[in-house]
Amino acid sequence: MGKSVGWGLIGASTIAREWMVDAIRAQPGNEIVAVMSSDAARGKAFAGANRIATCHPSVKALLADTRVDAVYISTTNELHKSQTLAAAAAGKHVLCEKPLALTLEDAREMVAACDTAGVVMATNHHLRNAASHRKIRELVQAGAIGKPLFARVFHAVHLPPHLQGWRLNKPSAGAGVILDITVHDADTLRFILGAEPVEAVALSQQSGMAEGGLEDGVMATLRFDNGTIAQLHDAFTVKFAGTGLEIHGLQGSILGRDVMTQRPVGGVTLRNAQGETDVPLDHENLYTRAVRAFVRAIRGEGPPAASGEDGVRSLATALAVLEASVDDPRGRRYPVSVRAYGPGGGPLADRLAGSLRQWVTAGQPSAAQLRIRAYPGPSTDDPAPDDTVPDGPAPDGPAPDDPAPDDPVPGAPRLVKQHSWLELTWPGERGVVGRGRGSELAGSPDGAAPKLAR
Ligand code: NDP
Repeated sequence: MGKSVGWGLIGASTIAREWMVDAIRAQPGNEIVAVMSSDAARGKAFAGANRIATCHPSVKALLADTRVDAVYISTTNELHKSQTLAAAAAGKHVLCEKPLALTLEDAREMVAACDTAGVVMATNHHLRNAASHRKIRELVQAGAIGKPLFARVFHAVHLPPHLQGWRLNKPSAGAGVILDITVHDADTLRFILGAEPVEAVALSQQSGMAEGGLEDGVMATLRFDNGTIAQLHDAFTVKFAGTGLEIHGLQGSILGRDVMTQRPVGGVTLRNAQGETDVPLDHENLYTRAVRAFVRAIRGEGPPAASGEDGVRSLATALAVLEASVDDPRGRRYPVSVRAYGPGGGPLADRLAGSLRQWVTAGQPSAAQLRIRAYPGPSTDDPAPDDTVPDGPAPDGPAPDDPAPDDPVPGAPRLVKQHSWLELTWPGERGVVGRGRGSELAGSPDGAAPKLAR
């Protein structure tokens, strides 16, 4: 048995009561010597119910307790930063709950403070300790499904009544489902894929459970730096969906069922050309395993399960999802257009712009077939009289430089019909595509993606 660790709990919280007290006590020689609560009566009740000898009224008092070697911080999210900085300054190791903080700057400061103080800092991302996720990671990294292409995370759950407090109504505490649940998805995917998220798009929902415009549901898509695209569904409001995580690769798929949970449960199936195999799992309490790694890290025997830096990364991803889900005047949200032709082409026109650029770059069209001219300033907003493109030769001259009213969706590329040619506009540029001579733009008014036919 290694050196015993004296623990101080910062926060008389539900997670401490439900999981972490037992997880700490499961480590040989570890002892919870004190708890800190801002409310004397609640702190005393918590200490009594959990057989903790001392209840301190402040972080300062707990950190001055010489029996405390390490702290577990599970207060509401806005308090994590100041409490981590104080613990580091007092030379205590820090196991901090997620999200580490409300801003990236704060989270970075926390990691830096622990580095400077020479104490271990870890983030309590429990899911990477699950036998299921560890097995999925092992399979992915062993090449069991070939190159991973897609991931899907099903983490829409029902927030139990006893937790329906600050998460739903206190923005200053870092409320909302994204900071609560999306951080876990981000960490789990990073862990499994060994890759970093680089882009996020998202739509969030305010169903009425959360108050004041806070989101209680979100669907997001992340792109990772290895090319994997991940789809996340997180919610406080969904009672019966069940949870899961899937990774789909070129040579197979891994399906994790009931795996986005605090409990050591769930199953993992590998499906490929050989058929379907249920992969054996050696389940263990996730929190116990996380604390064991943390205690070993204190002894200098390896890294914690999820480091402070891991907490920074998961927060960065959640913040990107949060930002993407907020209506953005800079135009990063594209209206979903069901018309391939006509004003406001939105994402379809965006895709078309991509095809056009590729086509032009590949040097395929002749000048007679395709002319793209750059115009400064905003795009035109010429309404299409109908959805069909009349036959006829492409105009010889440049596209008419009509006066352009304000673009209703700044930044969104649009496809506009101009008599016998189509005009594609995107910020700062306008391209004109002519019909005939073996090339034409094909699309359909029912929303099918337009494509270039030659
Ligand atoms: P709680 O609401 O249970 O506790 C948070 C704080 O609220 C406590 O520190 C306590 O303050 C105060 N508090 C607790 N009970 C009451 C009460 N009945 N009335 C008024 N105030 C109360 O939060 P959670 O345990 O759900 O979450 C705490 C942290 O842990 C969060 O950062 C959360 O994101 C994280 N978490 C992580 C999980 C994981 O699996 N990694 C799972 C769940 C939460 P005081 O200490 O001053 O008494």
